[in-house]
Amino acid sequence: MSFVAFKLHPSILANITALGYETPTPIQVQAIPEVIKGKDLLGIAKTGSGKTASFVLPILNIILANGEGERNRKPKTLVLVPTRELAVQVTEVFKELSHNLPQSIKSMAVYGGVSINPQMKAIYGVNILIATPGRLLDLHRSSAVNLSKVETLVLDEADKMLNLGFKEEMQEIFDLLPKKRQNLLFSATLNDQLSGLNNVLLLDPVVIEIEAPSEEEDLINLSGYFVGDDRKGPLLRHLIREQDMKQVLVFTSSGDKADKVAWKLIKNGIEASSIHGKKSQSARTKALENFKSGKVQVLVATDLISRGIDINELPYVINYELPRSPKDFVHRIGRTGRAKSEGLAITFVTREETHHFKVILKKMKRYIDMVDSETLDF
Ligand code: AMP
Repeated sequence: MSFVAFKLHPSILANITALGYETPTPIQVQAIPEVIKGKDLLGIAKTGSGKTASFVLPILNIILANGEGERNRKPKTLVLVPTRELAVQVTEVFKELSHNLPQSIKSMAVYGGVSINPQMKAIYGVNILIATPGRLLDLHRSSAVNLSKVETLVLDEADKMLNLGFKEEMQEIFDLLPKKRQNLLFSATLNDQLSGLNNVLLLDPVVIEIEAPSEEEDLINLSGYFVGDDRKGPLLRHLIREQDMKQVLVFTSSGDKADKVAWKLIKNGIEASSIHGKKSQSARTKALENFKSGKVQVLVATDLISRGIDINELPYVINYELPRSPKDFVHRIGRTGRAKSEGLAITFVTREETHHFKVILKKMKRYIDMVDSETLDF
């Protein structure tokens, strides 16, 4: 199936192509036509399923079809999210998909923990507001936003919102919305608490349940750091020490680099060795044995070697340098999170590699909240 089948506006289709989405994900296939029809929806799906675009695309299409309205402080679409990070991510998807449309569609994120004044000013002219519940209520109390014209309400990660104790705030917000509206509710799980919510909220909804990714894949936690080449060594040592990593596999893009990284670790008192194609078979076997037995804490390897390494329950993998292809990335991180025990795969990314890394994540349908290493003390 192709995105063309949804009969979306051509400029939205162009944005989909620019993002590199080739075919719709299962939740998109099922949700997009129903949301365009105006149906209420209950989507049981996790991050990684493509759920964000499954509501962003039809919402943009509906707004375009309805034509330009007045500019005011009355958004037509409200997306409630549990966290600031999700607010930013969802807003980014709205923005990426609303480039160069025949009418300008303004989306913006509002969340707590930052000054409210700039948000109060910026809300003017907003079409789509993506908000955490507490800050939205603050903005409402100061008359910066009026929710009486909301036509579509999205609750994203509703289970997380309830777990974080936002139930009362959510109820308060629902009371501010027009009774007649479209409701889209997304949640990773369906529990009793959520059932209470969807019974109140949804009117004869279309229910879509997307199978969770395989258990093994789910066990791999991903995290990432923006870091310049000159700071990678110190960051690596900092993470090994701070997180008390007893066994960590580090990936570099060449054998020479693997040797250098291992040498630098040894100089700093961390047991390390390297393994790559230029080493003799006996040296490789020995390095691997020492790593497996725990004699050597850090093994620095190249992609060539990653496929052959089978170590059960390896807790940490660090991508010191990015691999060229998403396939290699999957192989690398597949060394961790095996045999039903959780693993962490950490990736170092230079600013210049941001786009390349995004492409890899997109292929994997995963998200990472990046940490800027400059904010760390090491
Ligand atoms: P989500 O589940 O919405 O958090 O999306 C997870 C990741 O999948 C994000 O990086 C999206 O950019 C990406 N994505 C969403 N839809 C598609 C698609 N149809 N094709 C490829 N990637 C997609």
